[in-house]
Order: sequence, then structure tokens, then C-alpha cells
Amino acid sequence: YKAKSSRSGHHVFVCSDDDHGDSRLRMMEDLRGALATDELVLHYQPKIELATGHVHGVEALVRWQHPSRGLLPPDAFLTLAEDVGLMRDLTRIVLGKALDQAAVWRAQGTPLTVAVNMSPSTLIESDLPARIAAMIQVRGLSAADLMLEITEEFLMEDRARARDILIRLRESGIRIAVDDFGTGYSSLAYLRDLPIDELKLDKSFVFPMADDARAAALVASIIALAHSLGVRMVAEGVEDAVAYAELTRYGCDEAQGFHMSRPLPAAALDAWLAARHAPAATRAPSQRRSN
Ligand code: C2E
Ligand code: MG
Ligand code: MG
Ligand code: MG
Repeated sequence: YKAKSSRSGHHVFVCSDDDHGDSRLRMMEDLRGALATDELVLHYQPKIELATGHVHGVEALVRWQHPSRGLLPPDAFLTLAEDVGLMRDLTRIVLGKALDQAAVWRAQGTPLTVAVNMSPSTLIESDLPARIAAMIQVRGLSAADLMLEITEEFLMEDRARARDILIRLRESGIRIAVDDFGTGYSSLAYLRDLPIDELKLDKSFVFPMADDARAAALVASIIALAHSLGVRMVAEGVEDAVAYAELTRYGCDEAQGFHMSRPLPAAALDAWLAARHAPAATRAPSQRRSN
């Protein structure tokens, strides 16, 4: 099947020669089963505080361990989940797993704030703040253990409603990040009126930094503007040492990217963190300083 946009703006699925007519239907049934049989897994990507090299938080990213197709990335099934009404269930599962892991890290004495991506459709559920508060409480966690990543799209759809929802979440102590910042149409002036803790600068701004001085200057000024509004700035997509160094120099608060670590299963992340904190003499020469 290939997705095409119809004139009405809806996606229609048309048969193509290289695909079977029932594949979308089968995927839908598979996904329903996956939620029931616990085939979703979370990988965690560390967020590095640039001033210190410390890691205080991670982003949880969902994958589907498909029985025959292997480990599927979110792009392969999130649109389907949204289209067939499974996003609410999927999000509940992801939040549960992320908070379970946060409880494990807390119990291990290595607490990490876990950030969970929230689609607009799940944020508008009126019982969301109460449900999340209950999930936090039953695990003996605090609201500071969780962060929610929302999109600019959500903020722009219905500004007054978005503001109300964010205020309610914030009242329960949960911190809010705006994901993929810069790709939508929200302005910093508009964000000033919202209870937002963190902006995550989209990869597309970070990728060209290494070989384009103007791209780097743009990032520097976005960081300065965010700080003038009292919002923390996190850079996504840091793939090289040059971007890492420039972002540090510009006072960017945190960074995520393949240069530091890919998203990892929890056990692999623990090993990565342990290696970073090992004394220098026991570390492999290729590893970066973490102090
Ligand atoms: P995102 O929230 O912007 O997450 C960052 C994406 O960038 C992740 O892709 C991550 O693997 C990738 N990434 C991180 N560092 C680098 C880098 O240095 N270079 C490059 N090229 N990419 C990097 P992933 O895991 O495939 O997730 C894609 C998107 O799927 C996420 O984008 C998010 O919008 C969505 N997503 C993931 N998990 C969930 C979830 O549990 N719920 C919802 N609603 N959406 C999710
Ligand atoms: Mg995200
Ligand atoms: Mg992003
Ligand atoms: Mg994204």
C-alpha cells in the first residue's frame, strides 16, 4: 500500500504492485495484538547537560518487537496507531513502561527523569493529568521523574485549549518540553505565555552547524532567545564533535544525539552510564571526558 493525499486532505491507501492488498489490515490486527501481548519496547536516549557532562534525564522512544518483521521504528506504526484509534492504549503502555523504568533507576540509586512523547490526540483527554498523577503515585515516584514532550502542532491547533491543558499538567508538577522546535509555526513570543520548561531544537537546525557558520549563528541566537524567556534549550541530532562544542560554547543546556549515544535498551544505557562514570584510567581512549 502507498499513502496518498486525496483532494479532501485525507490519506487514502491505494494498492501497489509490490505490496499485498491486505497488508495494512494485517498490520492493524498485528498492532492490536502487540499491545495485548506486550511487544512494545522502549529505548532510552540520554540527554547530556553540556556544562557538566552529567546525565539527568533520558527520552523514551517506542519500538515494536514484531514477531516476524523484527524491531520496528515508531515511524513504521505510529501513524497506523493514530488512524485506527490505538494511540490512547499505546500511550498508556508507554507511560507505564517509562515510569516502571524510572522506578528501577530510582531504586538503583541512579534516578533519571524520563521524557515521554505525547501525540496531540492523547493530550486532549480531560482525565490525562489525573491518570498520570495516579501512575506516578502507585510507583512511589514524584512528578519530577516524568517529563512530557509535546509538539508545536498541538500548541497551534487550539491555543486556549492547549494552554489550559499545559497549566493543568504543570499544576501537578510535570514538566513540559516542546519537541522538534523550529519546524512548526509557533513563535517564541507565543511560547512566552505558556508554562513550558524546555525547548528541543529540531535536528534540522543542528545538522548544518558543523559546516555552515550562519546556521551556527542562528542556533546561537535561538538559544539566547529561549534563555531570555527562562526556558531551557535542548539540542537534538548532535552527530559530531563540532556541533557538540559549538552548542556548549553557546550555552545550550542539554544535547542528545548519536555522537553521544543512540537510543538504547535500559540495560545498555546503564552500561553506557557506568562507562562514562568510570575513572579515566579504566576508560577506553576513544571515550569522551564526562566531567
Ligand atoms: P523525536 O521525539 O523527535 O525523537 C528523536 C528522534 O531522533 C528519535 O527517532 C531518535 O532516535 C532520533 N535521533 C536521536 N539522535 C539523533 C541523531 O544524532 N541523528 C539522527 N539522525 N537522529 C537522531 P525515533 O526513535 O525513530 O523516533 C521518531 C519519532 O517518533 C520521535 O521523534 C517521536 O516524534 C515519535 N515517537 C517515538 N516514541 C514515541 C512514543 O512513545 N509516543 C509518541 N506519540 N511518539 C513517539
Ligand atoms: Mg521527542
Ligand atoms: Mg524531536
Ligand atoms: Mg519528531
